[in-house]
Amino acid sequence: MRITVLSGGVGGARFTRGLLALLRDRLPDGSGGTTAQVTVVANTGDDLWLHGVRVCPDLDTLMYTLGDAVHEQQGWGRRDESRRVSDDLAAYGLGWDWFTLGDLDLATHLARTELLLSGIPLSAVTARLAERWRPGVTLLPMSDDEVETHVETADGDLLHFEEWWVRHRAALPARRFVQVGLDTATAGPGVLDALTDADVVVLPPSNPVVSVGTILAIPGVRDVLRTTAAPVVGVSPVVGGAPVRGMADACLTAIGVATTADAVARHYGRRVESGVLDAWLVDDVDAAVVEPLRTDGWAVEAAPTLMTDVPATAAIAARTLALVDRLP
Ligand code: GDP
Ligand code: CA
Repeated sequence: MRITVLSGGVGGARFTRGLLALLRDRLPDGSGGTTAQVTVVANTGDDLWLHGVRVCPDLDTLMYTLGDAVHEQQGWGRRDESRRVSDDLAAYGLGWDWFTLGDLDLATHLARTELLLSGIPLSAVTARLAERWRPGVTLLPMSDDEVETHVETADGDLLHFEEWWVRHRAALPARRFVQVGLDTATAGPGVLDALTDADVVVLPPSNPVVSVGTILAIPGVRDVLRTTAAPVVGVSPVVGGAPVRGMADACLTAIGVATTADAVARHYGRRVESGVLDAWLVDDVDAAVVEPLRTDGWAVEAAPTLMTDVPATAAIAARTLALVDRLP
């Protein structure tokens, strides 16, 4: 079985870790324990140049989470991290004090940048870095081209997504998101094939706007997702009318989508109409949206979807894959 996941950072990485646990171990209900190849197509719209190094937040979160090196409580970055370099930079009055660059994390960025500057494309650089972390998946950047999400604020300012998200905590009202570089970008090597050749495609509980939405904006991705023979199943990142972590509500509001499990589903849309999904998993607390969505033709189930630990997340992954059996 070939499974392809379209992922952002923390939400997608945690889901994928649970999926791998499910594939490795059989769950009490008998699911799991199958051999499968997992390919993760990662959002790189959050990437930025900082202090002369290329930072790829979502790729790094995936690599550290799946490579058992992540700072678990934080959800991103390395465990046992220190900040000597960034503190020392600050002593020169340099650097961006709102963006944390840990010392160990900085080694990743330096390694990546050295390889990039020698002319190796991001996809090959990612494969090279993954040799160390052995994430258990094929990790593909959505594109080898630099595509950066910028935010246009209500005041008309344009700033990098990470500056809006991390520095301003998404509190500046956003008017729209712009993917700078999208016009000339193409999908990375293997990305479209991973969708065409998959047995199932999963949209994990990642940010629908700036994580999955950015991947879908890469030329070709949406079209291939709409036409692949693989079923496309998704998990709501919105639980009980709010994102579980982070400020995805600010992103949804900016594009005029309500922060509810059903509004996110309708935003993605069904493939039999003009959307990208076949089935949707919502949290038990949102069970009330199941019937209305079913009435409108959706394959939808409710289940616990809080990724509190790896076994709980493996169970979520099992319920997600089981959605396929619900399809006509
Ligand atoms: P980011 O790039 O680090 O922001 O990570 P993603 O885009 O992959 O995922 C962010 C989304 O994950 C947020 O909108 C959260 O609501 C969602 N999320 C985080 N933890 C959970 C969880 O335990 N359950 C569910 N259903 N969603 C979650
Ligand atoms: Ca991200």
